[in-house]
Amino acid sequence: MDRREVAAVLAYTGRLDPRTIRTGTGDARDQIAQWQELLDDVPFATDQGWDVREVIRAHVLDSPYPILPVDVARRWRAHRRDRLDRHSDPTPGADPDDPAAWRAELLRSRNAVAVGMAAPSTHRQITSGDRPRDVEERLREIGSCIPSAVLAELARYRPTRSARESAVAEGVPDALGVRCDWCHAPVGSQCRQRRASPDEAARGNAVRATPHPSRVDLATARRDRHRAV
Ligand SMILES: [Zn+2]
Repeated sequence: MDRREVAAVLAYTGRLDPRTIRTGTGDARDQIAQWQELLDDVPFATDQGWDVREVIRAHVLDSPYPILPVDVARRWRAHRRDRLDRHSDPTPGADPDDPAAWRAELLRSRNAVAVGMAAPSTHRQITSGDRPRDVEERLREIGSCIPSAVLAELARYRPTRSARESAVAEGVPDALGVRCDWCHAPVGSQCRQRRASPDEAARGNAVRATPHPSRVDLATARRDRHRAV
């Protein structure tokens, strides 16, 4: 409130409680200065249910003591707190990758609610109450963020991967999901030919179209173990 608003508040207060009236010019000026000091950030009235006159009227009706500016300031703080308690931050429209802009928008909307320029956003109360799920959770449900049509198209370019995917889909053990004990092909790599040689180090490089049988056995055992759990 500015000086003029504070003077109007004091005139209103004096009408309801004549004990608050200061008669001397200097006294009245001091009183306005004191009230304005404490009520500088308190609005006269907002569209959101705050009116300083209501506070004064309620005090005069409830209390035997003359109202002090601190009484008004405390009521405003309680009003502010109550509004913020009812407010749940709406999702900012700012780019989430810009934390500064995101935070600034949140603070702006909270401040607007606090000072009574905007109504509290009770988003959580009017929706069904489900917590917004994060992206990870939704992805787990859908399985992939790549549409299935695109996956089918991609399959042409990565036959090994797509063979594994269709194996998993059909319930066939995923042999490439385990390391091959026979040719030591690591997880995800196809088996390689092993030259039948007494020398262990001499190993062929040709890729086998199918995994070694022992690898399939290993994958089957692992799948069955997972199913049993
Ligand atoms: Zn192998």
